[in-house]
Amino acid sequence: MSNRRIYLDNNATTPTDPRVVETMLPYFTNMYGNAASRNHPYGWEAEEGVDYAREQIAQLIGADPKEIIFTSGATESDNLAIKGVFEMYARKGNHIITLTTEHKAVLDACQKVEKKGGSVTYLDVKGDGLVDLAELEAAITDKTIMISIMFANNETGVIQPMKEIGEICQKHGVLFMSDITQAAGKIPVDVKELGIHLAAFTAHKMYGPKGVGALFVNRKGPRVKVTAQLDGGGHERGMRSGTLNVPGIVGFGKAAKLCREEMAQDAQRLSQLRDKLQTGLMASLEEVVINGNEEHRMPHVTNMSFKHVEGEGLMMTFNQNIALSSGSACTSASLEPSYVLKALGLGDDLAHSSLRFSLGRFTTEEDIDDAIKAVADGVNHMRSLSPIWEMYKEGIDLESIEWSEH
Ligand SMILES: *Cc1c(COP(=O)(O)O)cnc(C)c1O
Repeated sequence: MSNRRIYLDNNATTPTDPRVVETMLPYFTNMYGNAASRNHPYGWEAEEGVDYAREQIAQLIGADPKEIIFTSGATESDNLAIKGVFEMYARKGNHIITLTTEHKAVLDACQKVEKKGGSVTYLDVKGDGLVDLAELEAAITDKTIMISIMFANNETGVIQPMKEIGEICQKHGVLFMSDITQAAGKIPVDVKELGIHLAAFTAHKMYGPKGVGALFVNRKGPRVKVTAQLDGGGHERGMRSGTLNVPGIVGFGKAAKLCREEMAQDAQRLSQLRDKLQTGLMASLEEVVINGNEEHRMPHVTNMSFKHVEGEGLMMTFNQNIALSSGSACTSASLEPSYVLKALGLGDDLAHSSLRFSLGRFTTEEDIDDAIKAVADGVNHMRSLSPIWEMYKEGIDLESIEWSEH
């Protein structure tokens, strides 16, 4: 393989589409006005750019432009939704339900809510990563104000039954918040049809720039409000103060428009490449498993464990050429197995032996061919050095071994 670099980590961030960059540029140089300046053309031009972007972004998710609040990204949108609803609806109740497999932006905001007197139920998922709907409904109490469940998981690509969750929320008069970051722009998302009341997403996961995101806040039936988390100026209908990031928002809008126009063909092409990658690896290697539900899954993602191989070490064999993520997260001092994979019931070793492949708009068939070869070579190399693998091949039951303590 050449020294070409291959990017298969699109769930971490996507490259900015050159067409997006081109649309943004004039807003740095000529049209640099503040969108809140009401009395000269600089302000008007900026506001026009923002308005058009707002329409494109709203259209992508089936919302009204007035329901889009611009933020700095999905982390801020998740925080604004969770803390903002908790504060706004304090008189109605203090209970929020979420999943253990949510993004840290949701989980950490929920922990903060608990410190402020809230009560949060963290539901476990089934072995395939899906929420248990009966358990979800049973967790609702007369104090429940909101259910927060992500559309698609960032590590496994597993898609939750959004319509059914929306119906449960509707039936019990509970707000439905969703982190739609990984789904928006990749598969159809219609917040009205799904009964979603708040939705957090970000430009840099859909070929837009980093540092700009949005929170959808439903305006009618019910009219939802969130308490602002930043004070000053009262921009964005009072829910998020601060001068708008005009070039970023314009880029986000262009990215949303391109996604709406191209998502069907991108998804079809990428699912074929993803399947090719999966089939290729499973044909050339033994003891490979796919993590998470394969049917309810994003078309461009696969999370695979290569048994008896440590993922971080495996990645070192090819990470000069191929960029992807392992199922280990670096915390302060140690390498922790992914909490998402552990919630699916994977043991520490299987979680540590996993790799997440996330394809994107600019992934080519050649990328996939080269990745199959590099990963298969890496796994074979690691296993050839591994006494555990040798024991496995000799038919020794690894579960039965009593390792000596020292
Ligand atoms: C990336 C991501 C976020 C964080 O988005 P930022 O814009 O980087 O703050 C939140 N939720 C999910 C599911 C993500 O994948």
